[in-house]
Amino acid sequence: MSQIPEVPGSQDDSSEEMEQEGLSVDDADNADETGDGEETVYEPLDPFSAPAPGLYLVATPIGNLEDMTYRAVRILKASDLILAEDTRHSRVLLGHYGISRPSESYNDFNKEKRTPGYVDRLKNGERLALICDAGTPGIADPAFNLVKAALAEGIKVYPIPGPCAMVAAVTASGLPTDRFSFENFPPKKSAQRLRKLESLKQRWGGEEQHAPTLIFYVSPHQIRQFLEEIAEVFGPDMHVVLARELTKKFEEFLSDTAAKLREYYRERTPRGEYVLLLHPQNKR
Ligand code: SAM
Repeated sequence: MSQIPEVPGSQDDSSEEMEQEGLSVDDADNADETGDGEETVYEPLDPFSAPAPGLYLVATPIGNLEDMTYRAVRILKASDLILAEDTRHSRVLLGHYGISRPSESYNDFNKEKRTPGYVDRLKNGERLALICDAGTPGIADPAFNLVKAALAEGIKVYPIPGPCAMVAAVTASGLPTDRFSFENFPPKKSAQRLRKLESLKQRWGGEEQHAPTLIFYVSPHQIRQFLEEIAEVFGPDMHVVLARELTKKFEEFLSDTAAKLREYYRERTPRGEYVLLLHPQNKR
């Protein structure tokens, strides 16, 4: 990553790479007949061809097991080792898809210790697949450490795209999607959360019409308090969307003012997984 790679010297270089990745060269040739990049390359012709060595960031479902791509399954089945945030949790997914490769845990508690060993294995030409508890590795989870260390050693890192809670939430929220800012989990302490909200408000300045939609991952026990703090900093009429239990049986989008949503949760207990979004232009 530190250097811009040279342009491949011959057609053969790129053909070889595509075949290693499981794509046929014919597929790739046909994929973009017009040369304007509009066609899509679909499934590999040969499902048994081995993926190239490297680190694979494999996105997995955020609830609904049907949201797994064919490519994700193929890569996991061909991996020398699967690194999972929680191996007990991922056993359900892997079992569902008949994936029986060795797996080890890679999480916030062991990432510093384990990263060098995995980089060594990658340098020896192995294929390591990294999955998180749900969604896209690298978004609010420990994947970044290994990605950074691998790239520093010139190891190839392949994204295998798929579900991501914040993308699912913002695209269906009705809030602007042309600019958005992912703010991860809000701080644990109320005073820090208020400071964070104040600084985000400052960033909007007087240019509210160009402000990005703000996106947070929020634990259910923080929802009530956070809605109150949003109302305190941005005013009770700030438009908030709560995207809950995405892709699951009780999926719901609640879209209203911070004050009304706070009122709604006076009678009910927030349950499940939440993405919280807000944008000033949609003040009600
Ligand atoms: N890497 C994941 C991704 O791509 O979205 C996110 C991992 S982060 C540790 C977990 C948080 O994502 C949850 O606390 C919740 O805020 C959000 N999340 C995950 N799945 C969700 C779902 N099905 N519905 C709503 N939010 C979800």
